[in-house]
Amino acid sequence: MKKLTLICMASMLMACGAEKTSTPKIEDFKYTVDKFADIEILRYRVPDFEKLSLKQKELVYYLNQAALEGRDILYDQNNKYNLCVRRTLEAVYVNYRGDRQSADFTKLTTYLKRVWMGNGIHHHYSEDKFVPEFSEKFFEEAVKSIDAEKLPLSKGETVDALIAMLKPIIFDPAVYPKRTNQAEGVDLIRTSANNYYGEGVSQSEVESFYGKMKNPNDSTPVSYGLNSKLVKKDGVLVEETYKVGGLYSAAITKIIGWLEKTATVTENDKQKDVINTLIDFYKTGNLKTYDEYSIKWVKDLASQIDFVNGFTETYGDPLGMKASWESMVNFKNIEATKRTEIISSNAQWFEDHSPIDPKFKKEKVKGVSAKVITVTMLAGDCYPATPIGVNLPNSNWIRHEYGSKSVTIENITEAYDQASLGNGFAEEFIWSDVERKRAKDFASLTNNLHTDLHECLGHGSGKLLPGVDPDALKAYGSTVEEARADLFGLYYMGDPKITELRLLPDKDAYKAEYYQFIMNGLLTQLTRIQPGKNIEEAHMRNRQLIASWVYEKGKTDKVIEMVERNGKTFVVVNNYEKLRTLFGQLLAEIQRIKSTGDFESGKNLVETYGVKVNQILHTEVLKRYKKLNLAPYRGFVNPVYTLVKNGKGEITDVTISYNENYIDQHLRYSNEFSSLPTFN
Ligand code: ZN
Repeated sequence: MKKLTLICMASMLMACGAEKTSTPKIEDFKYTVDKFADIEILRYRVPDFEKLSLKQKELVYYLNQAALEGRDILYDQNNKYNLCVRRTLEAVYVNYRGDRQSADFTKLTTYLKRVWMGNGIHHHYSEDKFVPEFSEKFFEEAVKSIDAEKLPLSKGETVDALIAMLKPIIFDPAVYPKRTNQAEGVDLIRTSANNYYGEGVSQSEVESFYGKMKNPNDSTPVSYGLNSKLVKKDGVLVEETYKVGGLYSAAITKIIGWLEKTATVTENDKQKDVINTLIDFYKTGNLKTYDEYSIKWVKDLASQIDFVNGFTETYGDPLGMKASWESMVNFKNIEATKRTEIISSNAQWFEDHSPIDPKFKKEKVKGVSAKVITVTMLAGDCYPATPIGVNLPNSNWIRHEYGSKSVTIENITEAYDQASLGNGFAEEFIWSDVERKRAKDFASLTNNLHTDLHECLGHGSGKLLPGVDPDALKAYGSTVEEARADLFGLYYMGDPKITELRLLPDKDAYKAEYYQFIMNGLLTQLTRIQPGKNIEEAHMRNRQLIASWVYEKGKTDKVIEMVERNGKTFVVVNNYEKLRTLFGQLLAEIQRIKSTGDFESGKNLVETYGVKVNQILHTEVLKRYKKLNLAPYRGFVNPVYTLVKNGKGEITDVTISYNENYIDQHLRYSNEFSSLPTFN
């Protein structure tokens, strides 16, 4: 597999005269691309890309390319055999001349798709190793049937040796069973399959190595260990730093190459400085430079184009120090960001009119402005599975002194929402066409607005009485806090102020969110709970707490009913105005509990309404859900961007297309963006 970046540039030259793009309409867009194992692959639209200036489009293009160059880094970080497994399977997939319709070949294809989804041999979410359904015998025959030159053989290695090495890696569930082990009582480093630490390095060695580096009096510590692999050389621990001339040098050099191309097209000097500082960091691996970069990045609020590119999140290291490589390129969704700005600038009005006791209100409230973004490229640890929001940087002292950027990714949530329409879920669980129509018209909008109100205002509203311990609610604290933020949002969604501020287009739109929230809290979120289990996660407890409290309190007035039809249970909301009043009452009580640190009432509320699951209803819901045969996990393919040049070789446009399927995309990435050796 070799880097074909030059050829790729040449093929782009041929794209002259490509059609001018415009964003396809939601109705005409086919969101679902592929389905296999427990995964559904979607595509996402990039609305308004064509409205960016030519320079901005060019900037996006280079940042996109820089994003894709890091792909192999993550594979190698996840497990040291991942690139070898992927390259071997891709070689078989492309070159196999046997029966491509056979059951074995189909199973090999599914396994390869799963490797792409997990960026390696482990499930992207559970982190457990998955094993193929084809036989070792078929694997051996298939590998041997293709030209040896196509295989990722090391110098002098035979095909037999490659097969012998890979068999246990691919087929034996006991070899590298878990990517990141978090189990108590074992050596987390030795029992994790990922590649952040070298052979024979133990957890206690790692802890003492970094323990010595850390100075407890340093108020601005770097993120120790973030960008390196810790290995043992002649019995001594040393860091192999990810940088030019260090580990992953070839890929990092490519990333820098694309970043350097942005020099003539950045939007402003601040942005140019951000990118140059990142380049510096990639060249030196110096973590002080990384902090400088993070500070400059978080302070750049003026640019419309923004990105994440680098060693960022540390979930993959059981000790939380080493960061996986990821990238996400995006531009600010100016219309949607206006929405969060309107909310933030009216924060005091919302606080003043909140239905809570005046003595718990903040005299001066500051709304947080989160920006709404449109992603243009997902890569590394953001691909194929991706977050729907990001809050960076991670360094605590930088967050404290300089703040953080909080973003919600609206074109990704749009894809999720749209793909869910028509998958049978709404038909199965929603009471009638009235609610379904409202969901179709408004649910995406109201969902986003509820999240904005929750994040920008809900968490920041209200205050503790003097002397109240912020941790007084102990284990119930986070459920109560989430309930407070959700209720704040729910209460205001139905307020005339919302249509007055033009945050919703219709005075009945909020009903879509109310219905969905109650249905989810009373019924459908149970699909995520194992049979016989209670609810543990704070957000889920909060949702059930709210839904069952208002159901209970509104019972005599039949505000909400649970109705049985043909042996199936449905939620019916009869009185939305009354429901809003109940949300307001519960908000007042929850705020009182929080403000006064009333542990007993908090505990009572959560235990009575938020934890226990109605077993009969749970069994019914699980049965209905199973019949729908929905994939529990989703990943994405990216659009394809093409430079358009005129006869003089000048760039005249960047076009975007949405036609690439899952297999073609991964094979292309493996061709064009694969500069690392098989073993690093
Ligand atoms: Zn929250």
